[in-house]
Amino acid sequence: MVFFMSLNPRILAGFLFVSLVTVIEAEPLVGFDDETSKTQRRLEEQFDQNLSPVSQDEWLAEFSARPHHAGSSANRQVAARIEALFSAWGFDTSIVEYDILLPTPKTRALELVAPVHYTASLSEDSLPEDPSTAVRKDLLAPYNAFSKDGDVEGELVFINYGRPEDHRLLKRYGISLKGKIAIAKYGKSWRGIKPKLAAENGAIGTIIYSDPADDGYGAGDVYPVGPFKHASGVQRGSVMDMPTYPGDVLTPGRGATPGARRLKISDAPTITQIPVLPISYRDALPLLQAMGGATVPDEWVGGLPITYHLGPGPARVHLKLEFNWDRITIYNVVARLEGEKYPDEWVIRGNHYDGWNHGAADPLSGMVALLDEARSVARLASNGSRPARTIVYAAWDAEEPGLIGSTEWAEDNAKILKERAVAYLNTDGNSRGFLNIGGSHTLEKFFNQVSADVDDPQTGATLKARARAAITLFGSPEARKNIENRTDLRLSPLGSGSDYTPFLQHLGIASANLSFSGEGTGGSYHTLYDTYEHYTRFRDPKLAYGVALARVAGRATLRLANAPILPFEFASFVDNVALYIDEIVKLADTMRTQTSLANQQINEGLYKLALDPTKTLNAPDIEKEVPHFNFAPLQNSLLALQKAIAAAAPQPLKELNSDARRELNRLLYTSERRLTLEAGLTGRSWYKHHIYAPGFYTGYGVKTIPGVREAIETRDFDAVDKQIVIAAKVLEAMTIQVGKIASITGSPGRVD
Ligand SMILES: [Zn+2]
Repeated sequence: MVFFMSLNPRILAGFLFVSLVTVIEAEPLVGFDDETSKTQRRLEEQFDQNLSPVSQDEWLAEFSARPHHAGSSANRQVAARIEALFSAWGFDTSIVEYDILLPTPKTRALELVAPVHYTASLSEDSLPEDPSTAVRKDLLAPYNAFSKDGDVEGELVFINYGRPEDHRLLKRYGISLKGKIAIAKYGKSWRGIKPKLAAENGAIGTIIYSDPADDGYGAGDVYPVGPFKHASGVQRGSVMDMPTYPGDVLTPGRGATPGARRLKISDAPTITQIPVLPISYRDALPLLQAMGGATVPDEWVGGLPITYHLGPGPARVHLKLEFNWDRITIYNVVARLEGEKYPDEWVIRGNHYDGWNHGAADPLSGMVALLDEARSVARLASNGSRPARTIVYAAWDAEEPGLIGSTEWAEDNAKILKERAVAYLNTDGNSRGFLNIGGSHTLEKFFNQVSADVDDPQTGATLKARARAAITLFGSPEARKNIENRTDLRLSPLGSGSDYTPFLQHLGIASANLSFSGEGTGGSYHTLYDTYEHYTRFRDPKLAYGVALARVAGRATLRLANAPILPFEFASFVDNVALYIDEIVKLADTMRTQTSLANQQINEGLYKLALDPTKTLNAPDIEKEVPHFNFAPLQNSLLALQKAIAAAAPQPLKELNSDARRELNRLLYTSERRLTLEAGLTGRSWYKHHIYAPGFYTGYGVKTIPGVREAIETRDFDAVDKQIVIAAKVLEAMTIQVGKIASITGSPGRVD
């Protein structure tokens, strides 16, 4: 209902009348009128009929038959097969190559040298129950890509998940990481943050292991009995400093074409400062068992049958890592279907195809849904329903080592993409359960409609109803409160972790990321056990949610491609931004009260009372008191934007000629660009978006209004007021854009 508040009463009355007589008919689609809505919905029914779980299952089996990491011959063959499929369906298909740096392991050695000796196996077991796990030469050994080379020896210190708060607590135990090797658990923060923070605190190496409490036997039966992590399973993954910039480490901000200017490897700032290696919990056990020192705080205890100690030592390890620092060619498959009416407006839809190993869940479960969708769209086109706008399907290479394929393509084509890209829709690994949508809030209303139009395969309820139920049943108190007073479900803001990042945060293209999750958990992520057998037994048997994903993403793609007026909408955007500003104001207030209280208690020597009396801890550091900030520029620009949005009709009040319509659509799809500033975020200029960014110290986790929020969180208080002014600027630019939109659509308050 809130959506219609800004409409002229005349139009509101008209709408109510229409809805009374056509009460059983669905509401018109955002961006379409009654007539074109009906045509579009009929098209979508045909689209659904072409989808095939059987094809998805066959492609999944075929592409996951062999390990296919970026740079491998198996991966090149997957690319060729995807290219052949797109071509056969009638897409104008090409393979776009880039020349990137990709380290692969040469030497990996980890030994416990004192007080007892143990040599870590660093390998994963073959399981007779799963033929895909058979020993093979082309398997990529467990490693963390973009760890630097190193040969280090030192005492172990246990750092829990390696987050900032974990380091703060270690300090209170009086434990320094200087000259030590940190052992961290996977989880709770993105893996690249763990060595980054450990190095900042003086560590000379980092080991990361998966604790069985998190996704091993502590969570459920382990593979092959159940889906959880086998004792030998190791999570591979990139530790490139992606919060600084993703993509090829040698060519920040430009496409990694053969002749591109390149940094020297030694100058690349996104390679880790210290060597880092992932291991299994089977290999971690002897190391942790040999540790002494204070026992860990209760919240740090994991699921191994030992008493966890913080160290340092007496466990001492020797870690030796060498990598092949090779330049390799990567292959993005890009398939175009030229739009009939607006060929220069592009809807881009992507998923990566490279895996760490067999990659059945990550990324192929999403890739096969994209292929199914693309085939159906192509069939509609060859039957005479060509999309109005151009649709570009992309199968990205080298996402796993650092979003490299998508980033290089986005950087290489930055100019044309800023002009023409309407939106970027991403999928990656899928599962089953509840639909998650993260994305630009100008598309929030749009995605609410899409998810209300697709049914859940298990319950038959709409995906939206099921997502709402998930929040009611399992959501945080705030999330639950949020849906009580709101028809629309909120989109999650996007941080990072998949290929939307270069489009959204570098180029300012409205983006979304879609997946199902919640009922197909397990511990196979980035291990040898992410196989076809695992996926079809435990995650999405018969690919029912693969089809649901194709329905959602395909509808979104087709609606964006065909909408006479693009379905961007600003009331939801500003409603979410208001929430973020509120959060940040409250964050500062809470920090101010807590800091001053804590400082007072430290000064009075009271700190021990709040802690476990059996442990002697140092007092926390006295923290800088939190000053009052001037949020007024941000709050005033928010108010101006709210007013501009209320004064603009969400749909044009008059018939538009084709030039006006074209200009209106251009203003709508370039609105997201207004949220970027060329200078980028302070200290990481690659990230241009000032509303959404991955956290500098959380990695994948989002920070909304990142300049302001992170200045407060990192206690860089002198920078806060300046950041507030910068953030206000993008809202002012958005206000101007909304004003230009209103000059075309008309203003409901004005009687012409
Ligand atoms: Zn992935």
